Amino acid sequence: MKNLWNDGDAEKMVADYAGKGVGGDLALRVYTTRLLGGEPRLVLHGGGNTSCKTKATDLLGDEWDVLCVKGSGWDMAVIEPQGLPAVKMGALLKARRLNKLADEDMVALQRANLIDPSSPNPSVETLLHAFLPHKFVDHTHSTAILAIVDQEDSKPLVKTVFGDKMGYVPYIMPGFDLAKAAADVFDADPTVEGLILDKHGIFTFGDDARQAYDRMIHYVNVAEDYVARHAKPQPAKAALPAKLATPASISPMLRGAVAVARGEGRFDRMISDFRTSDTIVDFINSAEIADYAGRGVSTPDLSIRIKTGPMAVPAPDADKVGDYKAVIKSHVDAFVADYRAYFETNDALDDVKRTMLDPMPRLTLVPGLGMFGHGRTLKDARIASDVGEMWIEAVRGAEAVGRFHPLSKADLFPLEYWSLEQAKLASNKPKPLTGQVVLVTGGAGAIGAATAKLFADNGAHAVVVDLDAEKAADAARKAGNNSIGVGADITDPHQVRAAFDRAVAVFGGVDILVSNAGAAWEGRIGELDDALLRKSFELNFFAHQSVAQNAVRIMLEQGTGGVLLFNTSKQAVNPGPKFGAYGVPKAATLFLSRQYALDYGAHGIRSNAVNADRIRSGILTDAMIASRSGARGVSEKEYMSGNLLGQEVTAQDVAQAFLHHALAERTTADVTTVDGGNIAAALR
Ligand SMILES: [Zn+2]
Repeated sequence: MKNLWNDGDAEKMVADYAGKGVGGDLALRVYTTRLLGGEPRLVLHGGGNTSCKTKATDLLGDEWDVLCVKGSGWDMAVIEPQGLPAVKMGALLKARRLNKLADEDMVALQRANLIDPSSPNPSVETLLHAFLPHKFVDHTHSTAILAIVDQEDSKPLVKTVFGDKMGYVPYIMPGFDLAKAAADVFDADPTVEGLILDKHGIFTFGDDARQAYDRMIHYVNVAEDYVARHAKPQPAKAALPAKLATPASISPMLRGAVAVARGEGRFDRMISDFRTSDTIVDFINSAEIADYAGRGVSTPDLSIRIKTGPMAVPAPDADKVGDYKAVIKSHVDAFVADYRAYFETNDALDDVKRTMLDPMPRLTLVPGLGMFGHGRTLKDARIASDVGEMWIEAVRGAEAVGRFHPLSKADLFPLEYWSLEQAKLASNKPKPLTGQVVLVTGGAGAIGAATAKLFADNGAHAVVVDLDAEKAADAARKAGNNSIGVGADITDPHQVRAAFDRAVAVFGGVDILVSNAGAAWEGRIGELDDALLRKSFELNFFAHQSVAQNAVRIMLEQGTGGVLLFNTSKQAVNPGPKFGAYGVPKAATLFLSRQYALDYGAHGIRSNAVNADRIRSGILTDAMIASRSGARGVSEKEYMSGNLLGQEVTAQDVAQAFLHHALAERTTADVTTVDGGNIAAALR
């Protein structure tokens, strides 16, 4: 591992922060914290922490000795000074005299001694940092260190690898007890340059930021070199089918299998992030992969991301892909049963009241293909994949020098169910569409873009499909929530298929279709050019059928129901003069919606339509509004609000109707009017 310290960068950071009133100690603390945080082999998504002992002044002008320590919720790679809250040292040091300190009391003590009470909670490892005398203390979960400590009896190996330069601390859950034990190990030999924490990670320290950082990189390199020099030959590979199924063909099955059934056709769905590389595939093709996966996580705080460890499934045979759904299901069922037993056994050991977290795997290893991270959002799914890559590193190293033997699941349990983490989860309420993927056609138009945004605001990830790829990307950006844009001519079935493949590749599947794209052509029906009517049918009927077919194909693979929503326009029930080319295929699409409701209701797939009218959009442009209102001798405003309510109807109102349909769990084969009231079109 490369030492990234650079004098010029360090000086620049000190100078830049000096201009913002931040002292040199804290500026350098930010500098090396970012260096450590930027390396996934050291620190991942909130794992690891750093501190420095310095002085801070409160509002009364009193100066205090403080510990600036990483605050919870901050990512080391992008930390700022406010991510290292200052806690009064005197109180922290006094705590060492106590015999016991409950987690909640420890947090209360730390918060009560913050210089700025609006700071984030100081790290759970704050006391450990405080009890060590050095000015700078660095802590990581280095994968190379984990290769050494994730062994059944790691103490002699730690001694062999690091000699007397590093202290050895047996496994204790982070908190007050670990802080005291680590300080005792240091006091027994104050010449050590750091501490190795069994089954957990490494601390290094120094008189200045550079020394603590240099020592971290040095000892990580010592571990890396040892692993490289002592690597045993790799174990045998598992036999793979002659032809492997593609990730896209198994992704919806897997996504369906890890959705949490809430009963009565309701599911908490997850997003899947597929990741692969030669390194990943080489490792998970091992004949031992299911055994490794069953042993657990490489460092305990990963349990917050991937629970008790990954789930390994067999490689999918392209010729038997139809049978693979049952294979996945049996593995998920086994994972869930193990998890439930793990919870029940360990929960019964005391009187603490805990709620079991959902028992689904968060990381699935598929030999031959790669791995899928699962999470309630794309961000969480990607974090699970990131964690998976580092789990592989640590396990490969541990197996190279011995046998991967991480923390036991009994010891992992109190950490996964740590009361403070449970409280955090309870306050983390999902949105109505969290975990769901919506594909919107005509997604860059007025109604499509408003719908994508509204669904994304309600927790869904949107796949914005539009003829214009750039506009689709722009609408996806505006929708937010990691939505994506896809350019496609939806009258071409190949392009439709490609758009759905992209949705599966990025999110793992599709739950909601908003089939919205359309265009209007005018002319008296008896004199219409046949080619024009057929063209209108291609877009205003067959494209709806093509996207619905693809959506249903994926929904059936997932087995978690779904929603089809069609924009059928008021023309479907109340034709306008010279609008036959538009209204006739739209009428067919209205019945298409009902046919889907009828044919797929038993699979939990709902199908509804929205009759919108007179919305400012690509179909009703400002120029058309001017000409039509002029022809009727009314103002544009009167024309646009020419309905029973006397109010203009907007794209936002249509988006709201689609959202209503997506959330109305017992409504199918329905048509909803969004036209401000048009009695001639009110036959439903
Ligand atoms: Zn740690």
